[in-house]
Amino acid sequence: MTEESWGLAREELLKALGKNNFQSWIEPLRLSGLDEGVATFDAPTKFMRDWVSRNYLDKIATELSRAGASVSRVEIAVSTEQRAAPVAAPEPARRRAQSEELPGAPLDQRFTFDTFVVGKPNELAHAAARRVAEGGPVSFNPLFLYGGVGLGKTHLMHAIAHELQIRRPELRVLYLSAEQFMYRFVQALRERQIMDFKGLFRSVDVLMVDDVQFIAGKDSTQEEFFHTFNALVDQGKQIVISADRAPGEIKDLEDRIKSRLQCGLVVDLHATDYELRLGILQNKVDAYRAQYAGLQIADGVLEFLAHRITSNVRVLEGALTRLFAFASLVGREITLDLVQECLVDILRTSDRKITIEEIQRKVAEHYNVRLSDMIGPKRVRTIARPRQVAMYIAKRKTTRSLPEIGRRFGGRDHTTIMHGIRKIEELLESDPQMVEDVDLLCRLLDG
Ligand code: ADP
Ligand code: MG
Repeated sequence: MTEESWGLAREELLKALGKNNFQSWIEPLRLSGLDEGVATFDAPTKFMRDWVSRNYLDKIATELSRAGASVSRVEIAVSTEQRAAPVAAPEPARRRAQSEELPGAPLDQRFTFDTFVVGKPNELAHAAARRVAEGGPVSFNPLFLYGGVGLGKTHLMHAIAHELQIRRPELRVLYLSAEQFMYRFVQALRERQIMDFKGLFRSVDVLMVDDVQFIAGKDSTQEEFFHTFNALVDQGKQIVISADRAPGEIKDLEDRIKSRLQCGLVVDLHATDYELRLGILQNKVDAYRAQYAGLQIADGVLEFLAHRITSNVRVLEGALTRLFAFASLVGREITLDLVQECLVDILRTSDRKITIEEIQRKVAEHYNVRLSDMIGPKRVRTIARPRQVAMYIAKRKTTRSLPEIGRRFGGRDHTTIMHGIRKIEELLESDPQMVEDVDLLCRLLDG
């Protein structure tokens, strides 16, 4: 009866999660028991247990119940077989690794090339991603994609993986975040399975590591990443990396890694422009139409949103999702009035264009220094520090480039600005007072 329910539930999970996620995370699970409403499964590795526990427990429980099992809770354990395995790998690491499932992160089914809207700001990144996704001979290695939050880096990487699965199903494509890379590495060290770890990462054909800035400052992880990277490049395997800034600007990243990352093609995803935002909105609306039949949108609404919400695509999408949900709940057409009503908070924050002068004024007031000291040459800490805070906030709260910020701070060089920003970033990690100050100032500026 339980096996039967699990069989049914699996079919539903396959539909809900997509083939790739299903194969990576659900298929390897073994039902080991059902007792007083608690269904227990065995997962082959700890990593898998943690990932499934974090992401799929509710779904599994729901589907089991629907399939007729009386399940109130699901628990995942690491299979005893695995736990009892000898510490020293008895068989060649390489073979073990290949028989294991690729431990990458799940791919988002929505992040494909079809749903990616191309415009001036992301044209080059898109073209480069397309090239990699053809799975032909490696023409640049690595492909390094960088840009601010929500500009489509993860979307493009997933799109590459999806496309490769279709075009070159025989290739082993591994996508994961740098954080997961570290997590797996540390776990392998702890469990003395470092040979397995190395074998596994060196056996892939395409390796994609998202948000690589995360490993900056994490020395042994960087070291391992570097070796993995080199081994794959030497074998002519494709690597795709993303980060929130250019390789040279990632602090606490070893120089040899920076220079290796710069060896391939480094592409910048620029901030969106009006046309791109409008295109993305139109695309989303088309997709939503299928979901919410009969939904009406007044003329000018999308243009208004594209004009007003400029921060990042994620916020833009969030706004649209909320509008649709709201409109379908109250059964109204989406008009400009409804937009104002429903998106007050989002529109308010993106309403205000904060200027650097304003930031300097607020910071000077807060630290009790003269406004003129913000741009003046004094280097004593009591003045230099507030000035650096202002630089940091200017970078965070405006769209000005470092040279532009430098000009407004009395003609300082952009490297001075970068140094100031880094200093504050450092302090934000170690000094609670700094966290509080910056927080307060940002809130004051947001109004
Ligand atoms: P990043 O990884 O750069 O922070 P994401 O790839 O997660 O950003 O993108 C954030 C959201 O915006 C995702 O839902 C993504 O689908 C969407 N998005 C970003 N750029 C585009 C684009 N050009 N076309 C369609 N959707 C986009
Ligand atoms: Mg991302």
